[in-house]
Amino acid sequence: MTSPKIAIPTLAETGEATEEEVINKVAKARQAYSSWHRLSYRARANHLLEVRRKLIKNLDEIVDLIVEETGKVSTEAIVNEILVTCELMSYYARRGEGFLRTQRVPVGIAIHKWAEVRYQPLGVVAVISPWNYPFVLTMGPVATALFAGNTVVLKPSEVTPRVGVAIGRLFASMDEFADIVQVVTGGGKVGQALITQPVDKIAFTGSVQTGKSVMKAAADNLTPVLLELGGKDAMIVLADADLDRAAAGAVWGAFTNCGQTCMAVERVYVLEDVYEPFLNKVVEITNKVREGQGDSADIGALTYERQYDIVQHQLEDALQTGAKVLAGGNSMRVGTRKSISPTVLVEVSPDTEMMQQETFGPLLPITKVSNVEEAIQLANQSSFGLSASVWGKNKKTIQQVVYELKAGSVSVNDVMISYAIPSLPFGGVGASGFGRTHGREGLLEFCAVKAVAHDWLGLKREPHWLPLPRWLGKTAKLYLKARYG
Ligand code: NDP
Repeated sequence: MTSPKIAIPTLAETGEATEEEVINKVAKARQAYSSWHRLSYRARANHLLEVRRKLIKNLDEIVDLIVEETGKVSTEAIVNEILVTCELMSYYARRGEGFLRTQRVPVGIAIHKWAEVRYQPLGVVAVISPWNYPFVLTMGPVATALFAGNTVVLKPSEVTPRVGVAIGRLFASMDEFADIVQVVTGGGKVGQALITQPVDKIAFTGSVQTGKSVMKAAADNLTPVLLELGGKDAMIVLADADLDRAAAGAVWGAFTNCGQTCMAVERVYVLEDVYEPFLNKVVEITNKVREGQGDSADIGALTYERQYDIVQHQLEDALQTGAKVLAGGNSMRVGTRKSISPTVLVEVSPDTEMMQQETFGPLLPITKVSNVEEAIQLANQSSFGLSASVWGKNKKTIQQVVYELKAGSVSVNDVMISYAIPSLPFGGVGASGFGRTHGREGLLEFCAVKAVAHDWLGLKREPHWLPLPRWLGKTAKLYLKARYG
């Protein structure tokens, strides 16, 4: 019987892995794969649900660790990270077996055959994860890869390595299959060392720049990659929107996790008829948001200084080109961290960095538009396409906007909610990457699709084998004319 508690890792236990250590961990994961992938789906799911029970037994310590490493408030860690992960695991435990069930498929003209599509594990998956949601964005792909029958080597961000090591310990502390998740810690060099190993898939979540270098390195071994990259999500507020709800949604969507969310609302386009009242409501709610630490705060701080510098630079750049701050805009200290108060801006020029590049901080630029077409056009004027939201009542207009938006997911009269619905595939288009996590598609992302054709008739030879029979060409021609002419 193992202890219900894991040892929470110290920083000293997260040193830079050597290349040799990376190679050894990949080999260990490969070895663990040989027994793990032979288990039935149900047996794998039961094991993963045991790991989840262990997580819940260590809930307080892991939440404290997430808070310590990121500077977010504990409610955000509990709801947005742990709860979302646990729900995703329930979903795959319940539904995953059906998604991976071998499918009989039609055989067309080959009536003397039967055919099936199998979904098999790939092997060893490298998971490389970011710091902004160090639990859900790590445990999510790790658990999904495992449900599909793979084993994992994980490289968490060097900004939040202890959460990654703690996840590894949840698996390592089990009586059986203790080696199915291996963790290597360190910076980009370690990530690079991992992806150049002979792994069978790379699941990367991070910035566009690193995503591109991951893809380039993966090309050498032709390793398939799943890239979950940045976003510049637009929110469109139509003239018939419920403005109280839309304003509250904008504030949460822009400022939760101190804006450090890939799907954060980073641009709002509001129809001119409702621009002023919407703006007033957003400013009123923003002024009530409490940034700080502990239970009295609504949001925490920017996680580390590099992120503060990026956000501060974008803010200054926008102000220099005529933007106006309607709320916030101040630098502050939250504990040991530097941060910026939730900031609402108007008249931000479309060619500023704030409107072009990912901000990943608590800045909310709001732009007035004269019609729906203009809103769609501006929303789509970005290289990113992660998610978006539209707020209004007219179903036809909503459908039109949903269809036209260049985004991997769209929330209607809500924001970022698609991520929390485990059956909805999550991922981007354009610079936001490709491939999907969550949903059926997310599980299949970690599978090899194998097409199998069987012969049931047992002829001595097939008509199209050599030497070719004379009648074949003529008969095929007649068939083509009769069937497709
Ligand atoms: P980075 O791209 O800087 O890092 C992501 C991960 O890659 C980290 O573990 C990092 O290690 C590692 N890494 C760095 N260099 C290399 C390399 N050359 N080869 C392999 N791995 C490497 O992103 P951030 O951690 O700063 O995360 C923020 C970004 O992630 C934002 O752009 C955000 O939008 C995006 N993101 C996307 C999400 C999505 O689902 N689409 C969700 C959340 C975030 P280290 O940190 O140690 O340098």
